[in-house]
Amino acid sequence: MKFYILTLFPEMIEAGMNHSIIKRALEEGIIEIETVNIRDFSKDKHKRVDDYPYGGGAGMVMQPQPIYDAYMSIKDRLSENCPVIYMSPQGKIFDQKKAEGLSCLEDMVLLCGHYEGIDERIIEEIVTEEISIGNFVLTGGELPAMAVIDAVSRLIPGVLNKEESHMNESFSDDLLEYPQYTRPPEFMGRRVPDILLSGHHGNIEKWRKEQSLKRTKIKRPELLK
Ligand code: SAM
Repeated sequence: MKFYILTLFPEMIEAGMNHSIIKRALEEGIIEIETVNIRDFSKDKHKRVDDYPYGGGAGMVMQPQPIYDAYMSIKDRLSENCPVIYMSPQGKIFDQKKAEGLSCLEDMVLLCGHYEGIDERIIEEIVTEEISIGNFVLTGGELPAMAVIDAVSRLIPGVLNKEESHMNESFSDDLLEYPQYTRPPEFMGRRVPDILLSGHHGNIEKWRKEQSLKRTKIKRPELLK
């Protein structure tokens, strides 16, 4: 799986993705991340990439030409079905099902906006879909892009090892995960449920299923619908 990130801040992506499980997946070549600095494609002598919005109003808008040229610089290397995803608060809300769908792809382009966003004509010309990571507005698309890379990568076979399996995690089967405990068996007077110390795998499995259902009902009842 290859992620192409069109961004004004490649160093954010490089620093953010160079840790833990994602770092290991990069080192093992299971995933690849290529950042493309949109500013490198500015034709302005001061390397400007933004301008005032037509019609007035607050803030600046990212100009279409540097984004388009940044995209064209990688276009020949993209697979036939490669989506161009604009990270945007106006997009469809990202969830585990979407991550599962994306994890089957060969590659994807994630376009990160900044300032007031990007010129609408870029969305019309190259963007195939818009994804939001929630109903709030961030400064730029880099954090959302990293959230997508992380959630998608951990679903790719080989990224998680057996101990880190995502099979029973929250949102698989629309349920939240059961409560987890580790050593010590007692902490601040609170004991780990006896059943988890019993060694009886069948009963533990049953208890975990019940707990999953119970906490989904309490914490996220809408998932059960
Ligand atoms: N003016 C835009 C609007 O009201 O829709 C918001 C622009 S926002 C300040 C700058 C950039 O951050 C966006 O172009 C987008 O790439 C990114 N962004 C902000 N919030 C986001 C979210 N919830 N999900 C995905 N991307 C987001």
